[in-house]
Amino acid sequence: MSENTVNTTGEVDMNTQSGVKTLREEFEGLYAGIFDLQKSGDAYLSPVTQAAAIAWFDAWVSFTTVEHAAGALQLNCHGAAKRAGWWQHPATGEPVQNNPYCFSNKLMLIVSEVSEAMEGDRKNLMDDKLPHRPMREVELADAVIRIFDLAGAYDMDLGGAIQEKLAFNAQRPDHKLATRQAAGGKAY
Ligand SMILES: [Mg+2]
Repeated sequence: MSENTVNTTGEVDMNTQSGVKTLREEFEGLYAGIFDLQKSGDAYLSPVTQAAAIAWFDAWVSFTTVEHAAGALQLNCHGAAKRAGWWQHPATGEPVQNNPYCFSNKLMLIVSEVSEAMEGDRKNLMDDKLPHRPMREVELADAVIRIFDLAGAYDMDLGGAIQEKLAFNAQRPDHKLATRQAAGGKAY
């Protein structure tokens, strides 16, 4: 399936993350032979079958992949930072979470990574630490690492929140293509 295609209900499929796309391609390859009763042009599944298959697959990805992947990221990112000593005062050893300004301070460190990604994009730079990768890609990775580290430090259920918010966003009227195309709709 091509990126950002319009499905049979008229909604734009924004699910273009490379990992998910690969899983979807695998799914389509697996089930195309079972469901495909009318091969013609680009529509190799009937509209009803395609819509049902995509809905089933999206639910499968959400329940089996998103939450578990987020949990693994949280364990990895926070575990590494905690072992490296970033969550204790360097002199006293006291947990830095005890400082009421800690959370907001860590949020600004995430912002700093996003700013670095913007600079990398603006100047079309390669990363200095991983010179085979674009700077914007590595700085986005830094931002995600910091986000999951922060969630782990405060015992948040970030994976569950991501899953629930994705489900909420999929249903919210102001994100439907028809609503966005109407006067006053969200352009982006
Ligand atoms: Mg960075």
